[in-house]
Amino acid sequence: MKRLTQLCILIITLAFSFSWQVSYAVKTSGGNSFDVIVTKRDTMQSIFKRYGLSRQDLYTVLRQVDGKQLESIRPGQLLHFDTENGKRLRGIKIFKSSNEILHVKKVNGHFKLSSSSPQKTGLFSMVDFTMKHSLYTDGVRKGLTSGHIAEISQVMQRDPGVDAKKLPAGTQIRIILEGASSDTDRKVVGIQLRHKRINWSVTRFHDKSGNNFYHPDGRTAAVSFLRYPMSSFRISSHFSLSRYHPIHHYRRPHYGVDLAAPRGTPVWATAQGKVVHVGWKGGYGKTVIIKHGAMYQTVYGHLSRFRAGLRVGDTVNQRQVIGYVGSTGHATGAHLHYEFRKNGRPLDPVKTRLPTKSRLGGTLFNAFKQYRTHIEKSLTARV
Ligand SMILES: [Zn+2]
Repeated sequence: MKRLTQLCILIITLAFSFSWQVSYAVKTSGGNSFDVIVTKRDTMQSIFKRYGLSRQDLYTVLRQVDGKQLESIRPGQLLHFDTENGKRLRGIKIFKSSNEILHVKKVNGHFKLSSSSPQKTGLFSMVDFTMKHSLYTDGVRKGLTSGHIAEISQVMQRDPGVDAKKLPAGTQIRIILEGASSDTDRKVVGIQLRHKRINWSVTRFHDKSGNNFYHPDGRTAAVSFLRYPMSSFRISSHFSLSRYHPIHHYRRPHYGVDLAAPRGTPVWATAQGKVVHVGWKGGYGKTVIIKHGAMYQTVYGHLSRFRAGLRVGDTVNQRQVIGYVGSTGHATGAHLHYEFRKNGRPLDPVKTRLPTKSRLGGTLFNAFKQYRTHIEKSLTARV
């Protein structure tokens, strides 16, 4: 039996390490092209310097094309760079206005400048299909690569607003790729899902933390957590892999943090997610478990009562009340036992690095909206 358990753990570990490798591979290849938002006082020179692009290439570009056009960038404008290894320039797209894109491209060792409207660029293409079997089978049949699909499912798995593993058959899927359909190395820039109540759409956009996907309203497509599920409390017991148990009087791990607060204090969900357990759970007493996308789970134990009407399958928002502090199960006094699990493994909720909250604001959001308009125009023109 023990052997079997060990084997299972090994398989699970391998499965997760494999999925992480995929994520790194995707990140590296995505690093060769990136978006830049022009800030105040920016020049092409300052941007090249900031992103570590070859100075030699800048001089070559300015010599070979009309430099004035390139230097006339304005704050808030979106620039898209294509590089080799993140250093050597392959091309720049300058999104001048919602009707004009300047395009610098290296052709046979020479940089060429052209201007076009999004309706004619062929900068983007799309793959449309209805899911019949699986994202993988149907997607590959439509011409997506396994790299595309790995990235698409990863983006979905990080978002608590969609259940990537349970997409219903019949879901309409649209994948937007950068590059014309004849290009061999197209990159995923948009994912849209439509099915009855599902209406989910994200677009890739570069921000300080790298290439990320955002909803049309600027919300990040990755789940974000609050550190604690209450506003006021005292930590009465820390996370530990071996602690002295006050009731059982022996050492055993404590997979969460205990937050002491008066009985009846409201407890809220630390992130948006789906309720997967509401009820009694052994020593944890009255417990709520929430699943946040495919990777994360949070556990709330020793509750005195649940929020009225809370059911398994409910979607809860961040900061929405799910129950009230109590001392049900094995508890010495009123406190909340809070656990944070990533890929099934409990992590210290106090110390672990949490996926940070992010939403595009100000200039970034404006540039993002403009970018989405470009994509839409570019796609609808050829339908
Ligand atoms: Zn505890």
